[in-house]
Amino acid sequence: MADRMPEEEQDEVSQLPAFEPAKVTLTEVGNPGTLQYRVHFSYEGHVISPWHDIPLSASGSLEGPFHFCCEIPKWTRRKFEVATKEDDNPIKQDEKKGVLREYKWGDMMFNYGFFPQTWEDPDHLDPDTQCRGDNDPLDVVEVGVRQMKTGEVQPVKVLGVLGMIDDGETDWKVFTIRLDDPLASVLNDLGDLEREIPGAVTALREWLRVYKIPEGKPVNAFSHDEKAQPKAYALKVIRDTHASWLASHGAIRSERRGRRATSFGIMSSPSMSEMGLTSNGSNGSIAAAPAQ
Ligand SMILES: [Mg+2]
Repeated sequence: MADRMPEEEQDEVSQLPAFEPAKVTLTEVGNPGTLQYRVHFSYEGHVISPWHDIPLSASGSLEGPFHFCCEIPKWTRRKFEVATKEDDNPIKQDEKKGVLREYKWGDMMFNYGFFPQTWEDPDHLDPDTQCRGDNDPLDVVEVGVRQMKTGEVQPVKVLGVLGMIDDGETDWKVFTIRLDDPLASVLNDLGDLEREIPGAVTALREWLRVYKIPEGKPVNAFSHDEKAQPKAYALKVIRDTHASWLASHGAIRSERRGRRATSFGIMSSPSMSEMGLTSNGSNGSIAAAPAQ
């Protein structure tokens, strides 16, 4: 388990050029709407994993901004998601028993995706939600005016977080806004979002509550009396899920760096030890790391 990089390795990383989202190249394989369709990621000619290789932080700080990777563009309904079990983790359309999944309730209203280098640990019982993680990267909605592309990576500000409970699992939804959105300069926390885009948080929560009903599934529930939480709480969720990723997938990251899969500083955010975290669960944030 790689909970701390050797100092010489940190030096080496700090000398690498910073990650630039504009240098990500997306390659489509197969046709959209088929089981074979994939969106692969590369960076300056090297294949990368959007989950493991794109740095979480766009600033080197866990205060943000962060790199958001879009899976489902706003106003669309095909349920694209990062293929966590496939090599290099391309994006594919989710399937159930060979049938491609889409939101039968209707289109997703915001750009929807994930934060790289995060993981909702299914062995970690969250003291606030009293549920365990859903075994996926942390989910993110981007509330900006522009429709993004599947696979597009952009730096975003964090505004707040909603604690969805899906089938007994914790499934956080982090509210964010692109740095280059026209409203970005006035959006810095949940209260700003409620004031500048009134109804957005409620509309997403109500959509998330009912969207699985057409699939014959029950409604989803929410933690914290169904109230979204402010930026400070969202940053804690990001730190915790990043620490879980480091504890469980840090070895994968080191192995990928060893192969020189990328030519930028993959790990530009703080190590677990720098975050005051340990991998033995002593701060209550990290359960025992599963073998990967
Ligand atoms: Mg999730």
